[in-house]
Amino acid sequence: MDDPGSRMHAFAEQLFPICRSITGDGLRESLRLIGEQIPIAIHGLPSGTQAFDWTIPQEWVVRQAWIRDKHGEDVVNFRNHNLHLVGYSGPVRARMSLAELMPHLHSKPELPDAIPYRTSYYKDDWGFCLPHRLLGQLKDEEYEVLVDTDLVDGELNYGELLIPGSSDEEFLISCHCCHPSMANDNLSGMVIAAEIASHLIDRPLRQSYRFLFLPGTIGSIAWLARNQALIPKISGGLVLACVGDPGPLTYKKTRHGNSIVDRAVESVFNGECPSAEIKEFMPYGYDERQYGSPGINLAVGCLSRSSYGSFPEYHTSADDMSFITAEALRDTLEKLEKILFIVDRNMRYLNLKPMAEPQLGKYGLYGTTGGVRTGRSTEMALLWVLNLSDGSNDLLSIAEKSGIDFTQIHDASQRLVKAGLMRELRD
Ligand code: ZN
Repeated sequence: MDDPGSRMHAFAEQLFPICRSITGDGLRESLRLIGEQIPIAIHGLPSGTQAFDWTIPQEWVVRQAWIRDKHGEDVVNFRNHNLHLVGYSGPVRARMSLAELMPHLHSKPELPDAIPYRTSYYKDDWGFCLPHRLLGQLKDEEYEVLVDTDLVDGELNYGELLIPGSSDEEFLISCHCCHPSMANDNLSGMVIAAEIASHLIDRPLRQSYRFLFLPGTIGSIAWLARNQALIPKISGGLVLACVGDPGPLTYKKTRHGNSIVDRAVESVFNGECPSAEIKEFMPYGYDERQYGSPGINLAVGCLSRSSYGSFPEYHTSADDMSFITAEALRDTLEKLEKILFIVDRNMRYLNLKPMAEPQLGKYGLYGTTGGVRTGRSTEMALLWVLNLSDGSNDLLSIAEKSGIDFTQIHDASQRLVKAGLMRELRD
C-alpha cells in the first residue's frame, strides 16, 4: 500500500477489535503489532511498583461478561463489543432486580444508539455500558449477571523507540494506547506515531526522536519516574490524540506557551491550515499534563483534529472505523512532518561578513545558482537570512519576520553556510 493514509487506516482497522486497557494482553498484543511496523522495545513494570504518587496497578484479565434476562437471553454480552464492560470491572456472579442492576448500567442519552466507554481503574467496581435505547427497553424482572474477570499481579507495558539524530537533544512523541475499540481516541494517534517513526528512521536528523506508546496517565507517569535523568535532554514534544477525524486541526499549547514546538505549529497552521485552532495550555486532557506538571515542566503540546470531548462520538462506540478517514490521517501526517522539520532544523546562525552586504556574486549566490537563474524570492531569502543572522534570531523568527516559508529560509541558510558566509551558533 503506497498511500500512507490508507496504510494507517488499515493498521487502525487491524488494531480496532483488540480489547486494550491500561494493562494486560490487549495492550501487549497492540504493542506487538506496532513492533511489526517499527522496532520498539516493549518494557514491563511489575504491579505494585511505585511511580511518584502512583502505584502500578494489577493486570486486568477478562474472560467473559454478560447480563441475561429471565428467559436466558443476552441483554448485553462483552463478546459483541469491548465497550459493553466497564474497564477494570471486578468479578460478579449474581441474580438481581432491575433496580439493583441500574446503578451498574451506563448509557449516553444524547447518542441513544451508541455504547459509552467507562472505566473503573482505581476503584473496585463493576458495570456494563449499553445503548440508551436498549436501557429504556429493560423490563422490571430478575437478571442474571456474570462478570468473569480477575485482577492479577503482572506488569504495565509500554513501547519505546529512540531514533538517534546527530545531537543528543531529544524530542518526544507520545500517544496513549489503552482504549479498547475506539478509532479516533486512540488508534489514530498510535498509527500516525508509528508511520512518522518509520519515515524518520531513514532520515538525517539533528535531534533524536523518542517515541512512547503508553497507557494513558499511569504510563507516562511511570515512564517519567523511571527516566528522570533524560528530562534535561528533552527539548519538547507532542502528544498525538484524536488525529484521524475529518475536522480541522487543533493544537493545545505547551505549558511554556512559546517553545519551539508551539512556534512551529503556529507557523504551519498560519501557512496552510486556515481553519485550524490553537488553544492555551490547561492541566487537563492527555499525557501532556504529566509532561507539563510543574516538577517535570517539559514543553509538550497536544496535536488533535477534533479535540477530546468536543465531538458527540467521543468515548463511545460511534468513534468507530468510519469516524476516521485515510485523508484526515494523511493530512495530519503531512502537517506533522512540516512541524517536525521546523523543530529539527530551527537553528541560529551568525553572519560572518556583517560589514555591509557580502558581494553575493563572488560566492555564486547571486543571479545564478549552479547555472540556473534563481528567482527573486530565493534572493530575498538569502538577504533576510544574512541580515537577521546577527545571533538574536533563529530561522523560524526570520521566516516569521520575512513572511517567507521556513523551508526556503532553511535552504538559504544552508547555502550561506556552504559558501562560508555563516556559521551555526550553539547555545
Ligand atoms: Zn480517551
